[in-house]
Amino acid sequence: MNSSNSRQSIWRPYCQMKTAPSPLEIVSADGFELTTADGRKLIDGMASWWSVCHGYAHPHVVESTLEQLSRLPHVMFGGITHEPAERLAARLAAILPADLDHVFFADSGSVAVEVAMKMAVGYWRRRGQPQRQRFLSFTHAYHGDTTGAMSLCDPDRSMHADYGDAILSQHHSVLPVDDASEAACHELLARHKENIAAVFVEPLVQGAGGMRFHDAETVTRIRRLCDEHDVLMIADEIATGFGRTGTMFAVEACDVVPDIICLGKALTAGTMTMAVTVANSRVFDAFWTDRTADALMHGPTFMANPLACAAANASLDLFDREPRVEQARRMEPKLQAGLAPARELPGVVDVRSRGAIGVIQVESLADVEDLRTRFVDAGLWLRPFGDCVYVTPPLNLPDDLIDRVCSTMVEVMSSRD
Ligand code: PLP
Repeated sequence: MNSSNSRQSIWRPYCQMKTAPSPLEIVSADGFELTTADGRKLIDGMASWWSVCHGYAHPHVVESTLEQLSRLPHVMFGGITHEPAERLAARLAAILPADLDHVFFADSGSVAVEVAMKMAVGYWRRRGQPQRQRFLSFTHAYHGDTTGAMSLCDPDRSMHADYGDAILSQHHSVLPVDDASEAACHELLARHKENIAAVFVEPLVQGAGGMRFHDAETVTRIRRLCDEHDVLMIADEIATGFGRTGTMFAVEACDVVPDIICLGKALTAGTMTMAVTVANSRVFDAFWTDRTADALMHGPTFMANPLACAAANASLDLFDREPRVEQARRMEPKLQAGLAPARELPGVVDVRSRGAIGVIQVESLADVEDLRTRFVDAGLWLRPFGDCVYVTPPLNLPDDLIDRVCSTMVEVMSSRD
């Protein structure tokens, strides 16, 4: 591959095109490993951005998707339905808590967040409060890269700084998601609730905003505050959904039922781009009228793509048949123990794990590209960012590979200058 050509013809994500090293070319992936163009095998410690929950090319996912490919790879979803979508929606409704029963198909996590915003604003309009168009989200929040989703992210983080005044101006209040925030949250909701449509939260783990963990009580408290002030609660479980934190959905561990939940990433076991926004009956019923104008006006071309639905159904089969969530839960102490030696290293601020997420937080990561190269040389694919070196592997990563991932992380971190 001519990397200098590709560096110009592909505009790559999250990198300075002029100075970034050439991307790593991957030619295939199987189980827990990526194979590079020059024949190296790397353990994927990222599960491709949290999505490949059962490992790559799981035979059941491959067979189900191939079977669907030959029968009906795609059909528009306006005015049409199909069995894989019907089955998937029913299964998601059955495993989600309480009356989170109404599944809207989106085509990426960010779009699922946009749909949730539209549902929330539309809900209040249909309830006679059209002025409720603002949202409350939290410090270090990350909800995606599309315009509405960006407006929910922590504005103090630099990644969306370009757009501050131009297109994100109308939004939103941001609060710390910790104990100190209760009074602030209460105060803000009391003062502004007539304008606030919903509170957005990443339950238990704030991902791209710094791999920060908070406890179940925090999420419970947010639900209580939403109830007290009659504001909708939206859980963004695009990263945490499907076992990652040790329960199928993070809100389960908090005993909380949001009004809307967004799911993506591992939904299709990392095979296809698809996400969903699932509403409870309270929200859905507001749109359920005799007036055409009360419909939810959204419909991406590839929504409910049958291949993606088949992959998602196959993934749910595996969650049914195999102890996947239990595996994620059991990974937490293993990651904690395996990464613990990093605590002694200079510049390390914290080492933590939750479910199948392990984090080494450092004072600063000036050497991020160099670190990435060292991990690759040691046979591990990781993508450190911000002040974190973190691992989010497939949930069924076997014990010997968990040990290898942890020892490689500690070794590479110890060899930093
Ligand atoms: N919300 C959360 C919590 C995420 O972690 C992400 C992606 O990392 C998104 C939303 C956006 O999802 P996508 O990248 O599929 O658009």
